[in-house]
Amino acid sequence: MKKTFREKMIAYFMGVGKKHKLLKYPSIGILSATLFFYYIGRHFVTNSKRYASMIFVGIFFVSSCSFSFAVFAERTGFTSVQETYSAVVGTSDISLAAVEPMAAETEVLLEEKKGSSEYETGEEAQIEAYTLDDLLEHHEHDHDAEAYEKRVEEQTETVTDTESVFDQSDWRLVLINKHHPIPDDYDFKLGTFTSGMRCDERVIEDLLLMMQAAKKDGLNLVVRSPYRTSDHQEDNFNNRIKSYMRQGLSYMEAYKVTSQVITVPGCSEHEVGLALDITSESYTQLKRGFADTKEGQWLAEHSCEYGFTLRYPEGKEYITSIEYEPWHFRYVGREAATVMKEESLCLEEFWDKYL
Ligand SMILES: [Zn+2]
Repeated sequence: MKKTFREKMIAYFMGVGKKHKLLKYPSIGILSATLFFYYIGRHFVTNSKRYASMIFVGIFFVSSCSFSFAVFAERTGFTSVQETYSAVVGTSDISLAAVEPMAAETEVLLEEKKGSSEYETGEEAQIEAYTLDDLLEHHEHDHDAEAYEKRVEEQTETVTDTESVFDQSDWRLVLINKHHPIPDDYDFKLGTFTSGMRCDERVIEDLLLMMQAAKKDGLNLVVRSPYRTSDHQEDNFNNRIKSYMRQGLSYMEAYKVTSQVITVPGCSEHEVGLALDITSESYTQLKRGFADTKEGQWLAEHSCEYGFTLRYPEGKEYITSIEYEPWHFRYVGREAATVMKEESLCLEEFWDKYL
């Protein structure tokens, strides 16, 4: 009768053990291990069809899951970073309150300033800075502050006469944050100063008016980092992901960490030219300390009179999920800005209440 593999192995190793006393126990060990793997292997071979279908089901499950598909799709250029964000973070269980608030832009700007090769993107890597003189000197259109002020007064009068009604489709109130990316059909015209400063052209007059008013009070405001192209934002974002991955994080981890420090492309108000980072000539950094400067205090108090709101206020981090940024101002128009100031509402709360 033919011997089985098992019997052959036992006979062989028993023989070895008998011949050499010293090898008795080692040969028993090797025998057990050999039989162990032999039976496991045989199990898989005899059940190959069963396992093949299990693997197939597994692959199907993973690829149909939005979470992993989004990452796959983005890495193969199928979808945008923004879509991945909605899939990865937007639909996850993380509540806004649980998300660490972050300084959305401080870090990026500082990195850029250092000229780190990581973020070097040519001329744009420099932090821009424009004083009122820079803007007035090079403004393409003549700006008559007095005539404009008159016009605004008239407008304001008519507005206060009637009950102010806010409209969701008003471009000034467009809500842009991590959960509300820039709408696909959002259209705007960039106003460009010859000094290079760019922002939505409809904001320019109020901005100049505000800077002039500050100057009258003896304060010199400086506009920094106004409009940023989406490509610039996306480059920053992708470079940061790569950098975290080089430090050993997986793509998913790197993505999450990055989205906490850099505004997700397509979700920054800077990309539509409605946000301006404003500091002063003496305090040039985008840091909390700006709030304690005269310029910071003036802006917190008066920016609403010119249609600007402090977009990421202190104490609202759990709603905006962005750290307090006393330098980041967003144009929303005078009426909305005034309501937001008087009722201490951030834009998200304003939307909840009035729109
Ligand atoms: Zn900003």
